[in-house]
Amino acid sequence: MSQTSTATVSHRLDFLKDEIQRLKDDHLYQELRPFDGMQGAEIQMEGRPILNFSSNNYLGLTNHPKLMAAAKQAIDEYGVGAGAVRTIIGTMRIHNELEEKLARFKHCEATLVLQSGFTANMAAIPPIVGEGDVIISDELNHASIIDAVRLSRGAAKDIFPHSNMSALESVLKKHKNARRKLIVTDGVFSMDGDIAKLPEIVALAEKHNAIVMVDDAHGSGVLGDHGRGTVDHFGLHGRVDIVVGTMSKALGTMGGYVASTQAMRDIMINKARPILFSTPHPPSVVASCIAAVELLESDDSLMKKLWYNTRYFKAGMKSIGLPIESETPLCPVIVGTSEKAQKLSQRLFEEGIYGRAIVYPTVAADRARVRIIINATHTQAHLDRCIETFEKIGKELDLLHR
Ligand SMILES: *Cc1c(COP(=O)(O)O)cnc(C)c1O
Repeated sequence: MSQTSTATVSHRLDFLKDEIQRLKDDHLYQELRPFDGMQGAEIQMEGRPILNFSSNNYLGLTNHPKLMAAAKQAIDEYGVGAGAVRTIIGTMRIHNELEEKLARFKHCEATLVLQSGFTANMAAIPPIVGEGDVIISDELNHASIIDAVRLSRGAAKDIFPHSNMSALESVLKKHKNARRKLIVTDGVFSMDGDIAKLPEIVALAEKHNAIVMVDDAHGSGVLGDHGRGTVDHFGLHGRVDIVVGTMSKALGTMGGYVASTQAMRDIMINKARPILFSTPHPPSVVASCIAAVELLESDDSLMKKLWYNTRYFKAGMKSIGLPIESETPLCPVIVGTSEKAQKLSQRLFEEGIYGRAIVYPTVAADRARVRIIINATHTQAHLDRCIETFEKIGKELDLLHR
């Protein structure tokens, strides 16, 4: 559907319509589904109320009064834009303040904040590898890691089967003559909700002298003491070299960061292209990020609620015959074929539950799923309704294993 009726149209782009038709034929075409009002557990979509079970807003901070007030105050104090890239005249005092706060929170020497988690991976990987080095990456790593690896000119790459530690060790041995080895893994895998085997990865890295980098987008604010993430969850402070986090998920705002050493920060400031060639956050976003970190530091009640809800939901799903294998609030309901997952998602929507289908090629063709994400803002009544709806539709579609 077009957005205006007054547009003048270039026919030189008509070839795109064939590509769109191919996507539709393969059931891979996506449309945006706008909702009204604020991101939250209950939203309005297509004119009716829907329970939202797809948001990464784990702690409900997207509309937390403290974060909103901080953003408003920063607009009055500093305006709405940073005006230039960090290295020219785009570093406001408040940008550094957020980074210092994050470094204390993450128990590391220094952090650097990027526009997003996506650009944080772009900033972290290419500047530190080159000719003679190898990047060793879990096969289920996030797209932004995959792209950052592609942009790392000169370095070799090697992919190991998901969380397979003997395969990782074989790859490390195979590259024993590499100048430097960089192991990269998601902290929490975004499609399955499982946690990386970080203690084993760190032990192997120490044995084979490899650098370890963890992208903890779904672990930030969710795992570890007060949401300090996967490294804290396993008590591995000081043994993981680079942690990428995001403030766009549990922290409710927007932005990525790289938490590491002062030297790592300094090299990224000098070499990372998202720093050198793209403007940083406006002060309002920075201020709400600061408020989010302060909130996490001072109060873990939302995190406790998130985990209480997660246990409650998983127990309920198990009792109806749809057990969930994940280790986190990210709950894949794996049903098999893409068609089944699409149907389940569609039926859930008709019944007032929003859960996105995730299909090939994002996941294996026979492991299509609906991904449910539990938030701290879900009430017991919301969770009960979700479970009851799964039971009803599960019967219709013959999905329940009992
Ligand atoms: C979501 C996600 C990102 C991207 O974070 P944004 O802040 O949304 O750009 C990066 N890595 C992983 C593992 C993610 O899940």
